[in-house]
Amino acid sequence: MFNESMVKRGTERSVIRELFEYGNARKAELGEEAVCDFSIGNPSVPPPPEFAAALREVTERGEHGYSSAAGLPEVRAAVAEYFRTAFGIPMSASLVYMTCGAAASLVILFSAALREGDEVLVPAPYFPEYAVFLEQAGAKLVPVPTKDFRLDLSALRAAVTDRTRAVLINSPNNPTGVVYTAEELRGLARLLEEEDRKKADPILLISDEPYREIVYGAPSVCPMTVYPDTVVLYSFSKSLSLAGERIGYIAVSPACKDAATLFDAVCGAGRYHGYICAPVTFQRAAAACLGRSADVSVYRANRDLLMGALSDMGYSFAPAEGAFYLFMKALEEDDEAFSERAKSLGLLLVPSKSFGCRGYVRVSYCVPREVIERSLPLFRALMAAYRA
Ligand code: PLP
Repeated sequence: MFNESMVKRGTERSVIRELFEYGNARKAELGEEAVCDFSIGNPSVPPPPEFAAALREVTERGEHGYSSAAGLPEVRAAVAEYFRTAFGIPMSASLVYMTCGAAASLVILFSAALREGDEVLVPAPYFPEYAVFLEQAGAKLVPVPTKDFRLDLSALRAAVTDRTRAVLINSPNNPTGVVYTAEELRGLARLLEEEDRKKADPILLISDEPYREIVYGAPSVCPMTVYPDTVVLYSFSKSLSLAGERIGYIAVSPACKDAATLFDAVCGAGRYHGYICAPVTFQRAAAACLGRSADVSVYRANRDLLMGALSDMGYSFAPAEGAFYLFMKALEEDDEAFSERAKSLGLLLVPSKSFGCRGYVRVSYCVPREVIERSLPLFRALMAAYRA
């Protein structure tokens, strides 16, 4: 009677959400201290003070009417100006589309750029929703192994076929915390340019960047500076701690082949999915805070505390260079069994299976520091249980 595939999508369990709901139920029943919840990537640091000031001012103006479908002209111009000053990219406001966060950006861009049967190479592990968003566009997610969680150019080259239409990268990465260097991205660009010479249309580089500002070493490199056919998908969810407000944008590189036509397709896909006129109050307030971020030093302190203590206990992980995730090696091959064992001690860790990789768990350390302090004896007990 209804769309069976949507019923399936609506009822299948998301491991992250399920752990998160379990944690909330335990806390409601037994009190806050019943679990140490490292399941979900909900920013724990408040938005920067400039955001509250901007929001107050915007709200006082009382302008809540529709904007044009792609967003307010002055907001699109501000984003374009940001690309010019921050990255030296001659971005035009006419190539910026305001969206309801990175999820909407992904859905819109996949519909706009991909055709039935197109293949998209995705370094694994990856954000699980990519699979759902690509499926709605009729495209195929092709997982590509990484080398110590960094881009493996040989594996990427081996995965290219006649149907390859795009490579989707996410740096800083969820779930690993790895941040790609300029050298890595230049290597990827060279590979794509070589492959492009064999194709009628260039391979698109899609860069999903909700964690752009959350880095603990060198700043994130904008892939548009190394490869022309690039589209950046951005969200203010993590940088400004606005995950619940649903605001972000799509920026098509002016150097992209047929950039204006691709942007027309973005507008068409936005219309098709009903993602027009992103929330105007948040368009304005976020635009006033471009390039700013919540206090990243809090996440860095969490990371240092957790990583230092867990290393001392004998755990190992991917290089945690950005975002707010530690990708920790499970103490047995079966990450789901390991996660269950941790859960029985009150530690909520996401098994890596849903990220397209086995044998790890993701630890979201965007939590109050006291949760990390309270969790350390539990991690110690977990290690002891496996050593016994
Ligand atoms: N992409 C990645 C890699 C993410 O981690 C997330 C959210 O956690 C999203 C996209 C979706 O972000 P948004 O909240 O802006 O829709």
